[in-house]
Amino acid sequence: MPTKRQKVRLELTRRDFLVMAGTAVGSAVFAQAVTTGPLSPFATLRHRQVTGAEGEAGHAGVGTRWGMVIDLDRCIGCEYCLRACCATNDVNPDKPWNIVVPEKTSAGQTFFFSRPCLHCQEAPCAEVCPVRATYVRDDGLVVMDYDRCIGCRYCQVACPYDARKFNWEERSDVNAYAPTWGTPEVERRPRGVVEKCTFCIQRIDAGLAKGLKPGVDFEATPACVNICPVGARTFGDLHDPLSPVSQLIAATPTLRLREELGTEASVYYIPPKEGL
Ligand code: SF4
Ligand code: SF4
Repeated sequence: MPTKRQKVRLELTRRDFLVMAGTAVGSAVFAQAVTTGPLSPFATLRHRQVTGAEGEAGHAGVGTRWGMVIDLDRCIGCEYCLRACCATNDVNPDKPWNIVVPEKTSAGQTFFFSRPCLHCQEAPCAEVCPVRATYVRDDGLVVMDYDRCIGCRYCQVACPYDARKFNWEERSDVNAYAPTWGTPEVERRPRGVVEKCTFCIQRIDAGLAKGLKPGVDFEATPACVNICPVGARTFGDLHDPLSPVSQLIAATPTLRLREELGTEASVYYIPPKEGL
């Protein structure tokens, strides 16, 4: 458990949910195994995530748009996603990229709200960055080039979802969640840069290079999606009508956070059955 849990109340308004029809997702549970240790397909995977030209090549490119569906009706608030993310991406547990917070519907029913970076296509964070250290890649991922980041924190202020964290200090702590919840696959970020959820970009790019399908093949899929014991997170290509995310969105009423801002987020939510 992180010592500090950041509680962020995003504007999931009642109106947003009232326009939704009730959700009717089946109750099938598809828990997936935690894969760590020497047998893990990720054991030898250690990437710098993205830097400069490296970030422009070797990915799915135009025509693809990676996205996620989070089913708030299924989420049980276990925080496995938060822990797997911290372990896999060597994230400071005090400043998790993924947050999970309890909320209540208007009927007083508790549900759990979780939030990664939403990988907005009209990303305010990218628009304000003066050195293009963060930008929207051709495949829809909003990436960080840590070598370019000058630590001005404009992006952190611009993000309407509070998805960015600034590294005030050089970290020397032991990763509290590794190896139980996963093995770090990327380098720890230096002091003085902003960081955020990448949708496990290292897995997506390495998986594609092996001919795997992110969202379908375990090895190419974000850690938070793989580890969720109740299948509350689904990942895939929003531009592929046959992908798991597209099929879920087609079959189920969903919403995006603060749609009125025009951020064109790539994360869709299935609301709790009670609405808000
Ligand atoms: Fe919710 Fe799944 Fe995350 Fe657990 S792992 S908090 S059920 S989204
Ligand atoms: Fe940028 Fe915030 Fe959108 Fe992520 S959620 S792409 S950090 S504006």
